[in-house]
Amino acid sequence: MVCGERWLAESCVFCNIAAGGVEANVVYRDELVTAFRDLNPQAPTHILVIPNEHVESIAHIGDHHPTLVLRMMVVANRIAASEGLEGGYRLVTNVGTDAGQSVMHLHFHVLGGRKLAWPPG
Ligand code: 5GP
Ligand code: ZN
Repeated sequence: MVCGERWLAESCVFCNIAAGGVEANVVYRDELVTAFRDLNPQAPTHILVIPNEHVESIAHIGDHHPTLVLRMMVVANRIAASEGLEGGYRLVTNVGTDAGQSVMHLHFHVLGGRKLAWPPG
């Protein structure tokens, strides 16, 4: 691990959750992604799917990451099924401060279990 990577792992809360250093209600974990319940849920089901590796946002996905994003989506689908979201769910990722991204580690929100308004605010 190079110095910059160690700094990220220590300072980024989602890196810490992925590494198991910070407690979270983890519902799924594999070698590429981790999924856990949001601390401040906005719907009956609100789960975050993150890459274990630090990537700032979907805007920072490079050519070397396509399988990672696909994996995150497959995991999100699986979680939606296991949470019983047959009526539908929303998969959201905020990119940057204007969109309301507050944790600068890529995450997909899986939201469901109630009617979700559209368009979002
Ligand atoms: P964003 O606003 O960046 O799109 O979403 C960040 C999400 O992470 C928020 O919904 C917030 O509640 C959640 N969150 C922030 N810190 C923690 C934490 O330490 N643990 C968990 N489980 N969720 C967190
Ligand atoms: Zn991180």
